[in-house]
Amino acid sequence: MALPEFPVEGGCQCGAVRYRLRAAPLTVYNCHCKDCQRFSGAAWSISMILRDEDFEVTFGQTVRYDRKAASGNVTPMNFCAHCYGWLWNVPATPGIKVVRAGTLDNMDWAEPVGNIWTDSRAAWVKIDPELVNFPKQAPDRRLLFVAWTRHNHD
Ligand SMILES: [Zn+2]
Ligand SMILES: [Zn+2]
Repeated sequence: MALPEFPVEGGCQCGAVRYRLRAAPLTVYNCHCKDCQRFSGAAWSISMILRDEDFEVTFGQTVRYDRKAASGNVTPMNFCAHCYGWLWNVPATPGIKVVRAGTLDNMDWAEPVGNIWTDSRAAWVKIDPELVNFPKQAPDRRLLFVAWTRHNHD
């Protein structure tokens, strides 16, 4: 699937929060960590990495929850203030946001190119060995960036 013309938009379930991607994400991948399973209520969540300058909330009020990881790292997570839909996180790496791909108005183009935290995936989840996969956090996100660029040029 080819990339769409940007900007594209997304938002929460109730429509109170709307956002815009000014440009394509740097990558899209699945996260199978226990936190994503709990927050999504699903077996994994789909993450899009956006440069700060390419992501903009155009409408609505969000609320923040600071998630503390076992490592002690605190990750601010942002939700719609009305329906509490999970929209994006702010990772420790400066300059980027991790946006939930399922909140795009149309996610047909946002096909994940990898999987992280496969160690904690549900036993019945099948991981495509052709993708860029890591047992825990990606030690270097650039491998996911390269895979995304290649995926959208083939
Ligand atoms: Zn909402
Ligand atoms: Zn996760």
